[in-house]
Amino acid sequence: MFRAVFLQKSDTAVLSEVRELSEDRLPEGDVLVAVDYSTINYKDGLAITGRFPVVRQWPMVPGIDLAGTVESSANPRFKPGDKVLINGYGLGDAHWGGLAQKARVKSEWLIPVPSPFSTLNAMAIGTAGYTAMLCVLALEQHGVRPDRGPVLVTGAAGGVGTIAIAVLAKLGFDVTASTGRLEEAAFLQKLGASQVIDRATLASAGEMLGEEKWAGAIDTVGSATLANVCAATRYRGTVTACGLAQGLDFPTSVLPFILRNITLCGIDSVMAPYELRAEAWQRLARDLDVKKLDAVTQVLGLDQAIATANDVLSGKVRGRAVIDVNR
Ligand code: NDP
Repeated sequence: MFRAVFLQKSDTAVLSEVRELSEDRLPEGDVLVAVDYSTINYKDGLAITGRFPVVRQWPMVPGIDLAGTVESSANPRFKPGDKVLINGYGLGDAHWGGLAQKARVKSEWLIPVPSPFSTLNAMAIGTAGYTAMLCVLALEQHGVRPDRGPVLVTGAAGGVGTIAIAVLAKLGFDVTASTGRLEEAAFLQKLGASQVIDRATLASAGEMLGEEKWAGAIDTVGSATLANVCAATRYRGTVTACGLAQGLDFPTSVLPFILRNITLCGIDSVMAPYELRAEAWQRLARDLDVKKLDAVTQVLGLDQAIATANDVLSGKVRGRAVIDVNR
């Protein structure tokens, strides 16, 4: 038997509870993982509360990522004792996920935890940090370098935002952080932001084209904010869009694209190709100061996962909420 967060759907709501389950209920897969840690990402918040229909199969064990130790493997690439992690691939929405002491998964989803990270480090980074690195890689691919000018990070005090700031600062970028929690300004500056701005300045419909401010941006909130970020991006700058914390609409015009030649890059972590994932994790191992992770991480027990899902959706969690599934 093992403990897991278990989601069931009724006619009107999603029922979430922590339950004991037997191993024979685990889905198909060629590797059995003893999970050490999972996390509560924004998408887990949506799944656990049922606020948005992200779950595609019922019943479901949520948790879009996990890190742990291989217990048994039918694939010779992995052996018992190997430290591994998974992000996405439908974990927690189409295949039972990481908020459980055991997971049976496909070996092609597994990434070895890169040195110097522990399984706790890997989940302190989690899908949010890995997505932040996918954004950084996309900016680099489009020629955004520190000498091109300042870079903006929206949703700065969230999971993607905090890791993005830490990585960009280490790479030498001048980082502006946009947050609704100005009381976190000192924390964001300690992570590496040189400027902190109030997200309210970007939140409502603005001009189609504004003053050129940023050479690049990592946007985690979408909606009017993303439109305003595009309108204030410098000539030939690049904006990466990975999130929808403000909304999934995008009320913009073509002007930033046809007059300023800006690029808008969509970022998806769930089905990203394996080579790109491996590159992102290698770059995190190189470009993220592990000491900064402690400042952005809180470690909670499995029984706290459901309440934390609500906190994540209310924007009350600073940085990363890691769940120790064995606590
Ligand atoms: P978090 O909940 O940790 O952070 C989101 C942040 O967005 C909050 O901390 C807050 O930052 C800001 N925010 C919340 N509500 C609003 C609002 N109404 N208007 C403007 N800003 C708001 O989430 P993550 O960092 O883990 O994820 C960020 C986004 O990226 C989510 O939408 C998530 O679904 C998405 N995502 C997408 C992935 C992909 O593959 N494309 C992968 C991972 C995440 P502050 O308090 O600083 O203002």
